Amino acid sequence: QADNVARRRVLLKLSGEVFGGGSIGVDPDTVRSVAEQIAAAAGQVEIAIVVGGGNFFRGAELSHNGMDRRRADYMGMLGTVMNALALQDFLTQAGVDTRVQSAINMHQVAEPYIPQRAIRHMEKDRVVIFGAGTGLPYFSTDTVAAQRALEIGADQVLMAKSGVDGVYTADPKVDVGAKKFDHLTYDEAIVKNIRVMDLTAMTMCKDNNLDMLVFGMEGDGNVTRALLGEPLGTVVTP
Ligand code: UDP
Repeated sequence: QADNVARRRVLLKLSGEVFGGGSIGVDPDTVRSVAEQIAAAAGQVEIAIVVGGGNFFRGAELSHNGMDRRRADYMGMLGTVMNALALQDFLTQAGVDTRVQSAINMHQVAEPYIPQRAIRHMEKDRVVIFGAGTGLPYFSTDTVAAQRALEIGADQVLMAKSGVDGVYTADPKVDVGAKKFDHLTYDEAIVKNIRVMDLTAMTMCKDNNLDMLVFGMEGDGNVTRALLGEPLGTVVTP
C-alpha cells in the first residue's frame, strides 16, 4: 500500500439470491465464483460486504404466513449469518483473509460488530463480512448496506443485481423499449418509483451524500470490475 494514499474503500451488497443461485439454501458453485471475483480485487481496494438472507427467510413473507413479524425477522437475520459463513469459507479458500462481524452476538462463529475494528481489518487487506443485518427487526439488508457504508467511511455502495445490468426506465424483461441509465439521482429514482434499493436505504444514501453503483453480477468479472471502480452499470448520486 502506497504511503499516505487513501485506497478506495467500498461496501458490496450481495443479496440472498446471489447465494442461493435462485433457490433456497446455499449453492456452493455460485458462492465460489463470487468469492474468486472478490479475491481478484482484494488488496487493491478495501472491501466490506453486507450479505442478504432472502435465500433462507424473509421476515415479511413469514409474517404473511402467520408468524410474528419480529421473530420472523430474527430468523431472516440468522439466515444472513449462514451466507456470511459460506462466503468466508470460499474467500479463505481463494486465499483472502476474511472476518465475519455479526450484529447479533455469536462468538463461536463471528466477531461482534465493531466498526473501528472492521476498518482496521480492511487496512490490513482483510475482507470484512457483516452478518445479521442491523440486529433489529423491521430493517432490510439494503438499509444495513447504507448504514455500514456510512459508518466505515466507504466511498461507494455497490449493489450487485442478478438478471439485470443496471437501472432501467422500465423493467427490461417486460418493456422492450426500456432504456438503461448511466446515471441518475436518488430523487429521480424515488420520484420514478425505481426501487434500486428500498426507500429507507435510498433516503439514507441521499441525506448523507453516499454514491451508489448498481451493476449486474452476470458478465465476465463484473464483480471484480465493480470493486475496482471500472465503469459499468448505473451510478446513482445524491
Ligand atoms: N432483517 C431484519 N433486520 C435487518 C436486516 C434483515 O430483520 O437489519 C431480516 C428481514 O426479515 C429480511 C431478512 O432478514 O427479510 C433477510 O434480509 P433481506 O430480505 O434484506 O435479504 P435480501 O433481500 O438482500 O436477500
